[in-house]
Amino acid sequence: MRTRDMDVQYIKGVGEKRAVLLRKLGINSVWDAVHYYPRAYLDFSVCTPIASLQPGDTACVRGVVGCPVSGGMIRQGMSIYKTVVTDGSDVMHLTIFNNKFLAQRLREGETYLFYGKVTRQYGAWEMTNPLVEDPDGNVPFHPVYPLTAGLSARQLSQIIHQALLLWSRDETGDLIPADIRRQYQLSHALFALKNIHEPATMHDMEVARRRLIFEELFVLQCGMALLRRHNRTKTRIRVQTGSVRDFLTRLPFELTGAQKRAIDDCLRDFQTGDSMNRLVQGDVGSGKTVVAAAALWAMAKSGYQGAMMAPTEILAKQHAQTLQTLFGDALQVTLLTGGLTAKQKRIAKQHIADGTAQIVVGTHALLTEDVQFHALGLVVTDEQHRFGVRQRSTLGEKGDTPHVLVMSATPIPRTLSLIIYGDLDVSVIDELPKGRQKISTYAVDSSFHPRVYAFVRKLLDAGRQAYIVCPAVEETETDLLSAVSYAKELSEREFSAYRVGLLHGKMKPKEKQQVMADFAAGEIQLLVATTVIEVGIDVPNAVLMVVENAERFGLSQLHQLRGRVGRGSEKSYCILISDAQGETAAQRLEALCKTNDGFQIADADLRLRGPGDFFGARQHGLPQLQIADLLQDMETLQQARAASQQVIADDPRLQKEIHKDLKDAVVRLFQKNGAAALN
Ligand code: ADP
Ligand code: MG
Repeated sequence: MRTRDMDVQYIKGVGEKRAVLLRKLGINSVWDAVHYYPRAYLDFSVCTPIASLQPGDTACVRGVVGCPVSGGMIRQGMSIYKTVVTDGSDVMHLTIFNNKFLAQRLREGETYLFYGKVTRQYGAWEMTNPLVEDPDGNVPFHPVYPLTAGLSARQLSQIIHQALLLWSRDETGDLIPADIRRQYQLSHALFALKNIHEPATMHDMEVARRRLIFEELFVLQCGMALLRRHNRTKTRIRVQTGSVRDFLTRLPFELTGAQKRAIDDCLRDFQTGDSMNRLVQGDVGSGKTVVAAAALWAMAKSGYQGAMMAPTEILAKQHAQTLQTLFGDALQVTLLTGGLTAKQKRIAKQHIADGTAQIVVGTHALLTEDVQFHALGLVVTDEQHRFGVRQRSTLGEKGDTPHVLVMSATPIPRTLSLIIYGDLDVSVIDELPKGRQKISTYAVDSSFHPRVYAFVRKLLDAGRQAYIVCPAVEETETDLLSAVSYAKELSEREFSAYRVGLLHGKMKPKEKQQVMADFAAGEIQLLVATTVIEVGIDVPNAVLMVVENAERFGLSQLHQLRGRVGRGSEKSYCILISDAQGETAAQRLEALCKTNDGFQIADADLRLRGPGDFFGARQHGLPQLQIADLLQDMETLQQARAASQQVIADDPRLQKEIHKDLKDAVVRLFQKNGAAALN
């Protein structure tokens, strides 16, 4: 076994108990220990004279213990020790809680470095529970690690120190090839690991840090490149693309330039002999469905079946209708969802198996049930962010390496989509169909309710329809408007003269469909709903979106919601109601009022929330990063990307001996996060 894989228990100073604590921090092996990076450093290299301190400072004081440490246990589980420290400029009182070891270590007349926050108490300087170092100790900077109860900073530092000793004895290689280190002026792995934990100077730490950020992004990019290769397999599916012209002439509108380009991208992919793996990324309402329809048409006209998966049943049904309308009687569209009766399902499956069904639209049912395709050629996944990378590949397995098209409305800052969807080729639809109007958006507090209701009534009287979205279904959380009771209240009071409908995720699929159908038909004028309406629903006559407790939603989610209106030629509105206090909350809603551009909103979201949240929730199947920050380290990211391409071009599967450690790191990064399997 390699030293890197040794269990933490074999590190000096780690017994069973500590091993348990370390595992809590995700440290299971020597590898994990040396890659557990500090989040900050305490500076012991610069000392401040006591007389120059300011109350509230966090500082390092070099001083002599002026009297024996006194104190002890004051009650069960609680001890206090006191002494004073002097440095010739002034005197500082020291209080130590619950740390007998530290109290015993301090000797009268000896000099130490005390690091901590200083306060002024009754006219005297005071420091409580400082970190203490010997002045001749050669650790000028103290790493600060995320800790867990029962494991002190000092203990963890010592454990990591021991792990580093093992590492530098046995793991002397470097996973970044020497020529790339030279090209990008990166320090050696051993230097980097030593100096990220125990830097001699902050400059050394910065050099180490840059190398480790590069390394992490480099490993990530190499992994993505492997995934991409893995996806891009030869396919025997041959597509005649000429027929698409017939489809385009059927369309009731002129395609935008961006739509044309996306369709061309797909058709070109069909010609390569490799299976397509393409993401079509475009803001809500940019017209992604037509792009998918063109690809499905080409496939069906070449004798293959196409499948389209949607995240919800409502959306699947709507897609099926849209596609059938676009295709007319030229193609047979079959719907397969969990909501069908047993008999309907049986017939649908029969048609899918014998090839009568040329286009199949469905939900997860397409994956989970025993659906046999006659000749599956293309899989389209709508709203990719709802599906994991894994589900995507499961459907791929149903056919003979079918082509894959993913559609996403999550506007990700352009540069980042390269990384997130690194395993896919990307077409961006960055143009809205002509005649779309800006949706006027306002952020107000709940004192505006009467005026909002009056505005809603005015629009309904003019024959338009509106949505009111609430964050919760039932009254479980206080302060949150629940869709159920709110719909009841509105229909009894402010909107007693109007037809109010209710839609939420806990309703049966049948009921939901009925409500959506009624809303689409204009039977329902005002729809009170939870975010089930978020995705894809298209009712052009709906011109107002009111969102209650808007602070509860992510910016991109609000943008998606807003995209449900403004689908026709009428002027449309979005009103965000929130009583949340605080600057960030206000800034977030303000960002939505200012722009309708999903990419700008994504940028704002990223800035205000930080990438941690943005990429959180394993939605993208992207590994969690330890040290790199996708936003701040953008430049390094580009370099790491170029470097990874260089390596992969030379060794596409990372099989060469010199890339052994690199491959190992890639597998670790992806495995640890349960991300897509790599092989
Ligand atoms: P999304 O990208 O959000 O999935 P859709 O495909 O649902 O958008 O399209 C939104 C609406 O715009 C649909 O009603 C569709 O028919 C219409 N549409 C799509 N492309 C065009 C176009 N080029 N010109 C006019 N309307 C279009
Ligand atoms: Mg759509």
